[in-house]
Amino acid sequence: MARTDLPNVETRLYIDGQWLNGSEGTKSVINPATGKSLIDVQQGGKEEALKAVKAANKAFPDWAKKAPLERASLMNKVASLIDEDKERLATIMTMEQGKPLKQALAEIQTNVENLRWNASEGQRIYGDIIPAPVGSQWLVEKQPIGVVGAITPWNFPSNMIVRKIAPAIAAGCTVVLKPSSETPLSALALMELFDKAGFPAGVVNVVLGKSKPIGEVLSTSDDVQKLTFTGSTEIGKLLNEQAAATLKKVSMELGGHAPFIIFPDADLDLAVKSLIAAKFRNNGQVCTSPNRIFIHETIKKEVTKMIVEQMKEVTVDNGLNDPTTGPLINQDGLEKVVKQLKDATEKGATVLFGGNKMTEQPYADGFFFEPTVIDDITTNMDIYYEETFGPVIPLISFTEEEEVIEAANDTPFGLASYFFSNNIHTISNVSKRLAYGMVGVNDVEISHSATPFGGVKHSGFGRENGAYGVEEYVAVKFVTIKS
Ligand code: NAP
Repeated sequence: MARTDLPNVETRLYIDGQWLNGSEGTKSVINPATGKSLIDVQQGGKEEALKAVKAANKAFPDWAKKAPLERASLMNKVASLIDEDKERLATIMTMEQGKPLKQALAEIQTNVENLRWNASEGQRIYGDIIPAPVGSQWLVEKQPIGVVGAITPWNFPSNMIVRKIAPAIAAGCTVVLKPSSETPLSALALMELFDKAGFPAGVVNVVLGKSKPIGEVLSTSDDVQKLTFTGSTEIGKLLNEQAAATLKKVSMELGGHAPFIIFPDADLDLAVKSLIAAKFRNNGQVCTSPNRIFIHETIKKEVTKMIVEQMKEVTVDNGLNDPTTGPLINQDGLEKVVKQLKDATEKGATVLFGGNKMTEQPYADGFFFEPTVIDDITTNMDIYYEETFGPVIPLISFTEEEEVIEAANDTPFGLASYFFSNNIHTISNVSKRLAYGMVGVNDVEISHSATPFGGVKHSGFGRENGAYGVEEYVAVKFVTIKS
């Protein structure tokens, strides 16, 4: 029996260094493994969003003026506090989001790395000296852009926040964050530690509440110079339109529909092991999750058998019991998987493994779905083009390299892609021609503190992580000096 008592955690908004009640009542946070309320959190709205933007604006000049080393030292301090508190943070995350505890701990560890990496990178935001005529100096400076509005999703409720806050504050910006209302506790737990580390009031702020009015303030205020959003393509487009009127800098980390291609010369054991690991991370609720599995026709039978065999090892349970995979986030998430599967089977797909909602105890009250493999997928099925946010592996066969490149690119999305091959020609050709922001070749580990993460097409624009991630939070200034 998994624990049901939530560790101690704040439930109020964090604005200008103060914990505040909101003006819009409270909202329950649901444990997706049990369907039960964990706790009620305070809700704000437009009023609190405006207050937080004001606080961030007030804090900005002093924070921007600080020596990068001084900012780094606070960032390293909060990194250490997170490291020390990781068991509590991970438990809170698993209880509000559902992912297995081991994955929650790994996410918290990534926060520690992100903060330390960006603390160092903030000290290397170099400008340029451009060759100029004698008597002139041409300088390029990179200055913090100002107040950042950040809106984040529920699937990585802690790291999606740190990926934004860390480069922003390292560059000298201040932040107003609106986390997903499915998972506010991870955001609040992080803020407790920023507060404890001694960040000046207003440098980081968190507003909870209805997303529409808060999003309107963050996307339309002239006091917010940068909007960074991670979430669905639908909401990303809306926020991008809203932000256009103030011409603020915007970055959009949106949905994905990753192809995963297995060529006949691949290391098949590695390919299958990598597929299962990537697919069942966070129960398939990942923007980079492999969603269309293309297998060369000559190895299709063998690989399918290997996949089905490995599925027997995939365990499902309350994340606190550390299974391979936990529940889906909520009833809507569960129904989307059911709907995609029904559509596919009605149009001729064959279920090879799983395929059902888990309705018996101990799963009955949560949002559990069996890990699933389906075959005979065709282009008229919803699952072929719609982002799958669940534990379903759809199999498709192909014959020619050209054909599979075309099929892999046949989607509005362009975030992550993967392929497995040991042929140098295939590796060179396919990696160049996949229309994606990220390509994993014989590798599914595509997210690191040091490397750029982001998409093209309807997966958005801008990059997180690495030096490219910090660039999102600076304004380039040219200075010419005549002497
Ligand atoms: P979502 O519904 O778009 O929500 C994301 C965030 O936007 C939440 O904080 C949500 O707040 C807020 N929001 C919703 N409507 C809004 C509005 N009208 N104005 C302002 N904010 C609004 O996405 P999600 O279901 O949380 O996350 C899953 C999606 O995120 C998937 O499509 C996934 O692919 C994508 N994702 C992309 C990346 C990437 O790096 N590219 C990473 C992770 C996830 P409420 O929760 O309060 O409604």
